[in-house]
Amino acid sequence: MDNLWSDQDADECVKRYAADRVNEDLALRVYTTRLLGGEPKLVLHGGGNTSVKTEMTDLLGEIWPVLCVKGSGWDMALIEPPGLPAVKLEPLQKARALESLSDEDMVALQRINLIDPGAPNPSIETLLHAYLPHKFVDHTHSTAILALTDQKNGMEICSNVFGNAMAIVPYVMPGSDLAKLAAETYEAHPDSEGLILHKHGIFTYGDSAKQAYDRMINHVSHAEAYIAEQPQKTFTAISLPQSIASPAEVAPIIRGACAIKKDGGDYDRLVCEFRTSDQVRAYVDGADLANYGTRGVTTPDLIIHVKNAPLIVSSPDQFSLSDYKVDTRKRAQDYIESYRTYFLRNNERLGNTKTMVTPAPRLVCMPGLGIFGLGRNMKEARVAADIGENIIRAVRDAERVGQFDPLSEEELFKMEYWSLEQAKLGKTAPPPLAGQIAIVTGGAGAIGQATAKLFAKSGAAVAVLDIDADAAQQVAQDIGTGAIAVACDVTNAQAVRNAFDQVSAAFGGVDIVVSNAGSAVQGEIGTLDDAALRQSFELNFFAHQEIAKNAVRIMKDQGTGGVLLFNASKQAIDPGAKFGAYGLPKAATLFLSRQYALEYGAIGVRSNTINADRIRSGVLTPELITERAKARGVSEADYLSGNLLGLEVKAHHVAQAFLNHALATRTTADVTTVDGGNIAAALR
Ligand code: ZN
Repeated sequence: MDNLWSDQDADECVKRYAADRVNEDLALRVYTTRLLGGEPKLVLHGGGNTSVKTEMTDLLGEIWPVLCVKGSGWDMALIEPPGLPAVKLEPLQKARALESLSDEDMVALQRINLIDPGAPNPSIETLLHAYLPHKFVDHTHSTAILALTDQKNGMEICSNVFGNAMAIVPYVMPGSDLAKLAAETYEAHPDSEGLILHKHGIFTYGDSAKQAYDRMINHVSHAEAYIAEQPQKTFTAISLPQSIASPAEVAPIIRGACAIKKDGGDYDRLVCEFRTSDQVRAYVDGADLANYGTRGVTTPDLIIHVKNAPLIVSSPDQFSLSDYKVDTRKRAQDYIESYRTYFLRNNERLGNTKTMVTPAPRLVCMPGLGIFGLGRNMKEARVAADIGENIIRAVRDAERVGQFDPLSEEELFKMEYWSLEQAKLGKTAPPPLAGQIAIVTGGAGAIGQATAKLFAKSGAAVAVLDIDADAAQQVAQDIGTGAIAVACDVTNAQAVRNAFDQVSAAFGGVDIVVSNAGSAVQGEIGTLDDAALRQSFELNFFAHQEIAKNAVRIMKDQGTGGVLLFNASKQAIDPGAKFGAYGLPKAATLFLSRQYALEYGAIGVRSNTINADRIRSGVLTPELITERAKARGVSEADYLSGNLLGLEVKAHHVAQAFLNHALATRTTADVTTVDGGNIAAALR
């Protein structure tokens, strides 16, 4: 492993933070914390923490010796000084004399001694940092270290590999007891450069940021070199089908199988992140996968993200996907059932004090293809996939060293249901569209953009489809994580198919489709060019059909229902002069929505239409607004608010109506007007 320390970078960091009155100790602590956090073989998603013992001044000007320790919720790779809250050191050290200290009291003790009461919770490993006397303490869950220590004789292996340089601490769950044991172990080995925590990770310490960091890199590199000396481990592969299905074809099947039906018939869904590589394939294709792949996670804190084992499915033959669907559902049900019994079995031992988290798998191993990380949003799904890849690396190395032997089920369960670990996941209720995937066509237009953004804000992963690739990209970028742009001409059947494949490959399928792309053609109906009318039908009717067909195809694979939402127009029922070429296909689209509602209600697919009117957009352009206002002899403002309520209707009002429909689980075959009130266009 490369040592990335640079004197120049360290100096620059000190100078930069000095301007914000951050002292040198903390600035250097930030510098090496980032170096450690940027290396996934050391630190992954909240695993790992660092500290420095220094001094801070409180509001009264009093100077206190403090421990600046990584705060909960901060990513080490991106940490800033506020991510290392200062806790008064002496009260923490006094806690060592206590016979016992409950988790709740430990958290309270840490919080009441914060210099800044608004700071995040200090790491759950704070006391361990406080009890060690060194100025700088670094902790990681290095993959190579885990490969050595996740063994039956892991302590023996580590003591052979590291000699006296590292002291070995037997496994104890993080918290007050581990902190005491770690300090005692150090005191018995005062010349050590760090600690190996059996089946957990590594600590290094030093008088300077550089010394603690150098020691981390040296010892991890030493472990890597030791692993490299062992004979290569090859997993004997199973024989695979001739033609393996693509991730886009199987992801909806996986998603559907892992969704959990709630009371009332709706589903708790998850989105998927697919990963593969030669290394991943060598692991998931192994004949023994069900053995080495399900022994447990490599370090205890990973369990909150990926549970104790992945779901293992069979390899998908492209030509028998309907059988595959049945088989995968059965396997997912078995997984969920076995998670429930695992919970009951272990909860009983703890006096039935815990509440079960969702039993759905978060990691799926698929021979012939790769792994899927699952989560309630793409961020979580990517975390699960990152962890999956990391576990694969560690298990492969552990099998090279000996036999991968992680913590027992009992210990892992305690960690999974430890209140301080669950607290890392946050307590806020998930947003209403969490776990759902939405496609918005015409996604770069006014209504499409407003809808895509609102759906993303409501928790959905969103695909912005638009014929204008750059404009779609801009919208997806504005949304950020959990949005993709897909260039798509919705009048081209192959392009639509490709777009749905792209979305399935990126997110795992689709639950909500907002079929919104459209364009108005003007002309007197009696003299209208046939070609223009047919062209309008292509975009304003057939494209909607193509989109709906593809959506339903995927929704059937998922088996968890879905929602089709069409943007029709008030033209569909209240024709305007010279808008026949627009109104006719829109009328057909309104009927199309009802047809889908009729034929797919039984599989939980709802279909609804929005009739909006007079929205500033690509259909109603500024020129058209000027022209129409003039024709009616009113101002543009009066034209736009010429409805029963006398209020202009904007794109975000239409977006809100689409969202309402996405959430209205008992509404289908409906037409909703978003036009400020127009009796001529009113239905029923
Ligand atoms: Zn740890």
